[in-house]
Amino acid sequence: MSSKQRKEQKALMVDTLNVDMNAVDHVRNSFEWIDLKESISQNKPMLGCQKCYDQDSNDSKGIDSLRVIKNNKFGHEKFSDKLDIYDNPLRSLEVSFSNKCELQCLHCNSQFSSSWFELDKELVKHGFDDRQISDTPELGIPSNFFDNADLSKLEILRINGGEPIGDPLTLPFFRKLNEQGTLKNLEEMRFLTNAMNFPDDELLGYFKKITGKVVIYIGVDGYKESYEKMRYPAKWSVLEHNLERYIDFAQKTGIRIYMNTTINSVTFRDLPNTMLWWLKKTEFLSPRNKNIVPVQVTGPEYLSLKAVPEWERDAVANRIKDIVIPQFIDGNWTQNSLDKKINKLVRFLEQPQKYNPELKNKLETFVNVINNTK
Ligand code: SF4
Repeated sequence: MSSKQRKEQKALMVDTLNVDMNAVDHVRNSFEWIDLKESISQNKPMLGCQKCYDQDSNDSKGIDSLRVIKNNKFGHEKFSDKLDIYDNPLRSLEVSFSNKCELQCLHCNSQFSSSWFELDKELVKHGFDDRQISDTPELGIPSNFFDNADLSKLEILRINGGEPIGDPLTLPFFRKLNEQGTLKNLEEMRFLTNAMNFPDDELLGYFKKITGKVVIYIGVDGYKESYEKMRYPAKWSVLEHNLERYIDFAQKTGIRIYMNTTINSVTFRDLPNTMLWWLKKTEFLSPRNKNIVPVQVTGPEYLSLKAVPEWERDAVANRIKDIVIPQFIDGNWTQNSLDKKINKLVRFLEQPQKYNPELKNKLETFVNVINNTK
């Protein structure tokens, strides 16, 4: 992504949430927001969306881009009808309270994890000018951002990070939803976590009150050592312990737990082991309650599969077909979303993708700089 594209993306993602717009309704009624909605509704190409356009292009088909996923969910006219917020109550919300996170996952950066700030500065010093570096270590919305908001008509909610468990704004936000009677009306709530901590009883209580679909996305991008390498300083033992607690909660309440796994050049060789581990751990949950959600890393390029020779991608695809699928998947690809996701993942690994050996060298330098900075 060029620096111009990065700037535009940053404008879309960060600057609309700057301190001048200290309430959700200010953002929704801002010139930038309305202009953005108008452009999207007129199908104008946007520089900030280039990453998704690239992912949707022919040579990287397979795993849906964020753009496609969001359009499938929110492209319905009910979410794009009126521009004036006073005629159009907030029905869908995706929010990151802050970038506070204790991990330094290799595919992340300082815009999403406060722990990445010093690393990003070091990488820039070593010539990595593609880093999406934040201006300050900690980013986030003001604590009063939702104070006067009417959240009672929310239907779809997605909580991202940083890491929302332990973020000081998470519990007050759910208390507000509870007070406004929103929890019992929500159709869907998605919650992303690195699972290094488990929700306390109060937060679990709010999850239980949601009558619609509740999905906890747990970030797992490797198996044992490769997981700890990818998600430093996360501990595999902590992940396993908390996953067992999530499974127990899922069995009692019917919530869904999905493994959110990035397909990247560092840990993708362990993908079959990671999948086997996940499917074994969750074997008593129904397929729809334990999905595997692969997320393609397209940038930085040295973390994408362009840094991996084709034969290695084929080898991983074959191990999934020979070992994972016969054990856990019934092969009727249309039957459930778990089967469909795994089928898509295999097709993605098998499709031709240009291997660039220079990216492999860049990846080595990237990992060395990070290891020397820890
Ligand atoms: S857990 Fe999420 S926010 Fe934290 S470093 Fe990893 S990817 Fe980034």
